Amino acid sequence: MSLEKRYARIEQEVHASCDACGRDAREVKIIGVSKTVGLDAVAQAVAAGIHDFGENRPDELARKHDAFPDERWHFIGNIQSRQLSSVVGRACLIHSLCTLRHAEKIDRLAEGLGIVQDVLIEVNDGEPNKQGVQPDELYDMLMACSKLSHIRVCGLMTMAVRGSLEDARATFCDLRILRDTMQSKLERSGVQGADLHELSMGMSEDYLEAIPQGATMVRVGRAIFSDDYAL
Ligand SMILES: *Cc1c(COP(=O)(O)O)cnc(C)c1O
Repeated sequence: MSLEKRYARIEQEVHASCDACGRDAREVKIIGVSKTVGLDAVAQAVAAGIHDFGENRPDELARKHDAFPDERWHFIGNIQSRQLSSVVGRACLIHSLCTLRHAEKIDRLAEGLGIVQDVLIEVNDGEPNKQGVQPDELYDMLMACSKLSHIRVCGLMTMAVRGSLEDARATFCDLRILRDTMQSKLERSGVQGADLHELSMGMSEDYLEAIPQGATMVRVGRAIFSDDYAL
């Protein structure tokens, strides 16, 4: 199946899932995770109508962004302090902010560029070895970020453990509840302009579980870019 056909199929399924749960499909952005493919495949994807791309390595994000500067590039990988300068300003959204130290560094870099960098905070779903802020530490992190004037926290991101759709659904449901709780806590604390509307959750295997739970962004790699991924 061609990339164009695979993407059309995924778009259709996103639409059907939105219809089934009473959501507007325009609320759900499909991010094409291009981390394993080259510039040719990105060009094909653009021709197929994809304009949001996800990358997990700063050097690749920089290379692809600079080749396709009119597309939107999302950074979804582990943050390493030294490489943040390749990401800030190029990424329309950093999905994987996990520490206050990195938030402060992003804030300084963004200030230097005269921009406000949009970010999501990655939440750990309870797996001991994965990155992400623990739910019970999230409020303090959000309060600290609200004092940095060159980053804007737009919502939350998580990765579900692979293998069980039921567990994935529970992870996504938890993230939405956590978001709702945090949103009202921030409002009660008088944080101006707090708006955690984005929920970045769901990948090739589980994006159809994420949509009924409120995902506003699904990050789909193999199902779009891999010939042999069974749709
Ligand atoms: C690779 C990756 C994806 C896409 O995974 P697929 O299973 O290929 O859809 C999504 N999110 C993150 C953070 C990733 O690293």
